[in-house]
Amino acid sequence: MPSEFDIIARFFSRPARHAVRGVGDDAALLAPAPGMELAVSTDLLLEGRHFAPGAGPRALGHKALAVNLSDMAAAGATPRWATLAIALPAADEAWLAAFAEGFYALADRFDVDLVGGDTTRGPLTLCVAILGEVPAGQALRRDGARAGDDVWVSGALGGAAYALHDPRDAAAAKRLHEPEPRIALGERLRGLASAAIDVSDGFAQDLGHILQRSAAGASVEYARLPKHAIADAALERRCVLSGGDDYELLFTAPQSARDEVEKLARPLGLPLARVGVIREAAAGLAVLDAQGMPLPLERGFDHFAA
Ligand code: ADP
Ligand code: MG
Repeated sequence: MPSEFDIIARFFSRPARHAVRGVGDDAALLAPAPGMELAVSTDLLLEGRHFAPGAGPRALGHKALAVNLSDMAAAGATPRWATLAIALPAADEAWLAAFAEGFYALADRFDVDLVGGDTTRGPLTLCVAILGEVPAGQALRRDGARAGDDVWVSGALGGAAYALHDPRDAAAAKRLHEPEPRIALGERLRGLASAAIDVSDGFAQDLGHILQRSAAGASVEYARLPKHAIADAALERRCVLSGGDDYELLFTAPQSARDEVEKLARPLGLPLARVGVIREAAAGLAVLDAQGMPLPLERGFDHFAA
């Protein structure tokens, strides 16, 4: 059985490309470029809560990093460095090799260095911290939405939640297990979007976070929401409005930026749908059906909800 230090050396010690010092010291050393701010975020994945026991290790390696990259996308930051704290029930080498492969494959695509972490025995737990760079003052945030702004969503919603209902839908399973962080979109939205968030807990709840932080309301047309194909209409509504884990970007932008936002879709190869409008806070959040009637909104995901 490999020791803790064998595990680090064999699976988590690839050389860093743009860190002053990476894995192997007590602290990594990073040098953000002049004029850049550091964007920092962390996400914890717990077996039995965020993923099913026995989940495939390669997809887990991907997802542990992807959910963190998605936070960089929502901040309009360029991801640069990550750390990985991992608790493992056993030193299973085949598991570790596949996990590391999934993690590094995604890290390589976005030129992110794994620069440190911690490795311990315990119930399977994955905690990634991500650091990125963003030009000073240009990070996207949740509190900038203003009445009259358009509401936009990238890609399609509901696929990840639907995967739990139909295990035969391979596209939905991919959305759930191997989400694609919208990094390039986040970078292009600097200076264009007034507010942004990634859809991790469900469209209605995540839009609610923007509205709360921006002291605003919104009305959204359900028909305009980009949807994963789901045959059952009631299930579709639940997956699209309250399903989590899609990791699309939900953002607002002034109407004057409409053409520029529309023009991003083609070079990014990513559909961008204009789904509604920001209103005064008193209007609250309304998602309207084809007759203009508000749909009932379920709460999205909350770890502490009864
Ligand atoms: P310390 O005891 O000083 O915390 P460790 O012995 O835990 O250091 O780790 C040794 C080195 O390996 C450190 O640079 C640490 O950041 C890195 N490291 C440990 N676990 C991981 C991991 N899972 N992924 C990446 N780097 C790791
Ligand atoms: Mg340590």
